[in-house]
Formats: sequence, structure tokens, C-alpha cells
Amino acid sequence: MLATEIQEFAFAWYPVFGVVFMALLLFIFVKLLGSTIGKTKPEYVKASDTAPVLWEDVQGVDAAKDELMDVAAWLREPERFAALGARPPRGVLLYGPPGTGKTMLARAVAAQAGVDFFAASGSSFVEMFVGRGAARIRRLFKEARKSGRAVIFIDEIDAVGGHRSGGGGDGGTSEREQALNQLLVELDGFEKDPGTVIVIAASNNVDKLDEALLRPGRFDRQVLVAPPDRDGREAILRSHAKGKPLAADLDLTDVARKTTGMTGAQLANALNEAAIIAGRAGRFSMARADLDEALLRQAVGSQQARRLSTKERLIVAYHEAGHALSRKLLGLDPPEILSIVPRGPALGFVGHSPREDSYLKSRDELLDEVATLLAGRAAEEEVFGESYSGAADDLARVHMVCRQMAAEFGMGVALDHDGPPPIALPTKDYAVSDATRRDVDLASMTLARGAYRRARALLSANRECLDDLAAHALEHETLTREELDEIFAAHEMHGLAETHGSGAALVAMARERRE
Ligand code: ADP
Ligand code: MG
Ligand code: ZN
Repeated sequence: MLATEIQEFAFAWYPVFGVVFMALLLFIFVKLLGSTIGKTKPEYVKASDTAPVLWEDVQGVDAAKDELMDVAAWLREPERFAALGARPPRGVLLYGPPGTGKTMLARAVAAQAGVDFFAASGSSFVEMFVGRGAARIRRLFKEARKSGRAVIFIDEIDAVGGHRSGGGGDGGTSEREQALNQLLVELDGFEKDPGTVIVIAASNNVDKLDEALLRPGRFDRQVLVAPPDRDGREAILRSHAKGKPLAADLDLTDVARKTTGMTGAQLANALNEAAIIAGRAGRFSMARADLDEALLRQAVGSQQARRLSTKERLIVAYHEAGHALSRKLLGLDPPEILSIVPRGPALGFVGHSPREDSYLKSRDELLDEVATLLAGRAAEEEVFGESYSGAADDLARVHMVCRQMAAEFGMGVALDHDGPPPIALPTKDYAVSDATRRDVDLASMTLARGAYRRARALLSANRECLDDLAAHALEHETLTREELDEIFAAHEMHGLAETHGSGAALVAMARERRE
């Protein structure tokens, strides 16, 4: 009885439920669609929403700043340049590795000129629905024009501005193409409407950009934002160290010296990490050891609680001692630190930092570098008469350097002035024959073998120093530059009479191997 009553009740309400349910579904669907379409996502950020970046805040990129200076001047006083009949700059492309300060520079230009700043990311123009990205670009430019003088910043422009693919693409590419086309239309539109809006775009890789973007009147001004040199690094460190108390032993000039190749973002990050390390240890200022630890974490990884057996520690100690000693003997940049405390993926490591920033390396220098890379393995062989699996990373790097020497730098054989010209293979867009490929393999193997032989001979001639280094490493786990120097000074150093294999010897060896 009861059962039928319920059934009847349910039956009577079915249609109503149905309608409500459908309405609900429709509502959710529209809501979902709306959010993917982007109504809820901000399309760009106006700088007034965030703290401005001042011109002085951007350090160590003076060349780029010089080039942007007149863009800022133009935005500030367009009349002055117009009176001279100058064509306004339209698009400026900042390119360079991530973290060098491209975003900062774009913001600083706007702040310097006292104009509005609109920032958007290239990827936000590539949406799921065709035409959406293009519409966003149109709106962004419209807003910027409305504010009179403005900087539009498009980060990661590669996302929209990459090479257009040939044939018919899927939805994604045609959406991207529409966005790119819209961007070109907007840039060209400046011609008719010389309002004072300048577009600054950033990219990590100009090679990937569509040529259409780089044509005159578009992003015709390209500014390289390179990692800072030593003075630049020091300036960046000083500016980011403001408000961070430094201990007396922390010398930022010295930090700048040993951070070759690091970008502004990495330096800022290391300082911050060091402050956290100091804080966690309950100190009130940041010491040299804190920053060194932060730099090591960035370069190698964090300390690991791996427990090695006694034998394994001995092997690691000799392996690292081999790297450090050969570096010293070959007169390369001296080792700064030797450690057998496992860190990141490494069981031990030797750190060194260049005496100078350098942009060129000679064949001999490269071969010396290869020899020190191989000296870890050479020490294992010399001491234990056995090789261990820990050297895989060294070997991979050796392979890379030697291959590059043979295939790209034309250094497969020594440059003998009346001998045959060295060979280099353009590896891009060039079909390489099997025979040539084999020659390259053979040449790079020969280079590596020669370097290994030298490393082995060096260690064998300086065995006492090698033993001493390993013993100290076992005892102290980490040796500083000063401690290393003290050990080196206690021994007479034996170099090798013959430095590098001569071209003729290498050629003979290669021939021998081929037969
Ligand atoms: P990019 O846009 O080139 O990837 P950013 O401008 O976003 O680099 O930099 C990220 C952060 O790194 C900045 O907020 C700043 O703290 C720091 N930084 C990077 N380059 C510099 C520089 N040249 N001077 C000062 N700080 C820098
Ligand atoms: Mg950036
Ligand atoms: Zn090694």
C-alpha cells in the first residue's frame, strides 16, 4: 500500500524533475563554457596593480638598458622626436635566457617614461576556441591606446609568434595563427595611428619566431638581454642584498667572481635561500657559509643522507681527488671546493670557478678540461685497478665536448699550419654521410683517449699528493680552497713533458683504429 503511494507520487513529479534537471545541466554547461572562454581569467595586468620596477633596480644589463633608454625617452616626450621627423619605435623584442631581467626591463621602461604598463603572456592568447586569442589581442591594444601613452608587454611571445606551420593545422595551430595575424595587424595599425603605444615582447629563443614578426615596422628592434658579467653580478647581488644583514666574512665581490654564467634571477634566489638558511640556524646575519650552501644547492643539489660503505667513500674520495689534482696540475681554474658529502644526484664533487669570464676556449684548454673530467675515472683505475659506475656523468660530458670539438669546432685534429684543413660539420640542415659520421666518432674518441692517457700519467706522477688529498677528504669531508691550496703546496708538482698529442700522432692513431 505504502509502496504504491510512493510510486504514484514519484510518477507524478517526474516531468517537473526532468525540466529542473535539464535547466540545471544547461546552467552548469554554460558556466563551464564561460570560464574556459576566459571571462573569469584576467586578460592582462596593468602595472598600477603592482609595485613599479625602477630603472635603477635593473642591474648588470647596461647594454640592453642603453638601447631601451631612447624608447623610454620617446614615450616620455614624443613631440621632441616627432619634430625631428623620427619614426617612432613600435616593437622591441627582448631576447635572452630566462631570469636575465626582461620582464623587469619592460616594467622599468614604463615607469621611467611615466606611462601605463599592460602585461600579458603569449600563451594567454592561445585558447581552446578559435578566434578567442585574436579577440583578446584586439581588446588589449584597444585598452592601451585608450590610455594614450603605454607600454604593452607580451611575455613568452614564442607561444603565439612561433614559426607558422606549413600545411593545414589542427584547431590549436589555426587558433595560434589567428592570434599571430591579429598581432601583426595591430602592429601595422600603428602606421595610421601613431599614438604612443610601444610593444615590448620577450622571448628565450628568437630563432623560433616567425619572420613576419621581425620585419621592419614590427619587432624590428631586437635587444639581447644576456647573463651579467662579473661587475653586473656584483651590482645585482648588492641591490638584492639591501635589507639583508651580511656577516663580516661575506664578500659579495668574491661571490660575483665565482658565479659566472648565473642570471639575475638565480643570484636573487641564492641570496634569498641563504637568508632562509641563516634564519633557520638562528643567526641574525648571513654568513659566507650560508651563501655558499645556497649556491651549492642551486648548482649541485641539497645534501643527501645517503650512507656509503667505507670502501665506497674511499673510492669517491680518490675520484674527487683526481678531478681536483688534475685541475691544479693542468693550470686550469683552480678547484674551490672538494666534497665527498652526497649532494643531489652526486656522491661527491669538485667545484671550480673561472678566474675570468671568458667567451673563447682554445683546443688545448678544451682538451685539458676533458682530461680533468676523465681524471676521476683515471684515479679509480690508478688506485684500485678497477672502474666504477659513478663516472657516468663525467663520461657523458666528455662525449659531448669531444663530439663538439670534432664536429662543430673543427678541432678533430690539431691545426697544423701546412697540414690538411680541419673539418667541421654543419650539423643543422645538412645531411652527413655515414663515412663522415664515423670520422667524427673516431676523432672524438681519439681526443678522449688522448686526454685520458694524460690524466692517468699526471696522477701517477703525483701519486703522493693524490693520496694526501684523498686522506684529507676522508677526514674532513669538505675541503675549502684554502685547505686544498695548503695540500698542493706541501707537494712537489710533477707536470708532463709532452702536453697534447700532436696532430700527426692523432691522425696516425685514428688511421690505426680504422684499419
Ligand atoms: P626574465 O623576464 O628575463 O625571465 P625577470 O625580469 O622576470 O626575468 O626576472 C626575475 C627576477 O630575477 C626579478 O624579479 C629580479 O628579482 C631578478 N632579476 C633578474 N634579472 C635582474 C637584473 N638584471 N637586475 C636585478 N634583478 C634581476
Ligand atoms: Mg619574465
Ligand atoms: Zn667525477
